[in-house]
Amino acid sequence: MRSGIVPMFSHDEKISHYEVSRMLGKGGFATVHVARRKSDDLLVACKMIDRKKLEQENNHNFPSYQNHRHPIPSSRSTSMLDRLNAEITIHHQVKHPNIVELLNCFCDDKYVYLILELCSNGDLEHYLQEKKTLSEHETRNITKQVVDGLVYLHSHGILHRDIKLSNLLLTETYDVKIADFGLAKKLPLTREQTNETMCGTPNYISPEIASRNPHSFATDVWSLGILIVTLLTGRPPFDTDTVHGTLSKVTQEKYELPTTFSEEAQDLVNSTLRKTPEHRPTIMEIRDHPFFSKDYSRSSHSYNESNSYQKLS
Ligand code: ADP
Repeated sequence: MRSGIVPMFSHDEKISHYEVSRMLGKGGFATVHVARRKSDDLLVACKMIDRKKLEQENNHNFPSYQNHRHPIPSSRSTSMLDRLNAEITIHHQVKHPNIVELLNCFCDDKYVYLILELCSNGDLEHYLQEKKTLSEHETRNITKQVVDGLVYLHSHGILHRDIKLSNLLLTETYDVKIADFGLAKKLPLTREQTNETMCGTPNYISPEIASRNPHSFATDVWSLGILIVTLLTGRPPFDTDTVHGTLSKVTQEKYELPTTFSEEAQDLVNSTLRKTPEHRPTIMEIRDHPFFSKDYSRSSHSYNESNSYQKLS
């Protein structure tokens, strides 16, 4: 964990120090491009956030976010600029092999630029689109890395709140990195739950968020369960044609797992998708679940069926 005062914007860096080329992806207000740092030829990803759109969105009550693919904003009272500042502050503080590194950020009149470690093999959404479904072996390799990143975040009091395929990126060597801290939240040590209302992406949203209850680390655990089912079946378990339909299935806990899932996969998914957040295992307990030790030579399993929610230090 990096410490000290976070420099929000670097004044001596500017976009002319980079050669910006092909587009890698698009988000709500941002486009992400490959860029070459001219001083040392380092290839990076440059996320360019349109300042005008950002400011307009503040005045329009977030209309473009209210669809199936995009996150629902975490709080209508928080401005998008505040959220961007929070994203940069949190992202800048974290450093882990399974988290995309934020190398720098600066702005000019048109854009805020985030200079990120390049993940040249794109995101898991595109990867899964090509492959349709993944084997348990590959799902295990991918999600184990997500779990490692989340263990790091949760142990530092950070909720990601938007774990989903398009926010999980693949490096040149197909290592997995967690990206996009746009909905992340650092919880003060004295308060382990946040009361902000709707946030997340409908298919991955937890029942506590869908019913606008306080939420905490268990909400990322829920999204992890959704991720595992999506990788194995090619489809999120609560998917319907409408946001309303999906949220209603989520709150009623209506899902079915294919009988082809191994016992370990079924047990892990069922535990992560428990409606009551306190009944889900912590991310540390998930790391030790037999699903993850099946192909590995780890000897001891500390997973316990009757896990109760444990406070993270
Ligand atoms: P937003 O926060 O606006 O949703 P994201 O940060 O999720 O934007 O980025 C949008 C897309 O851009 C991602 O889904 C991914 O395809 C691509 N992308 C983002 N960061 C990187 C990166 N570091 N390396 C490669 N591609 C990236």
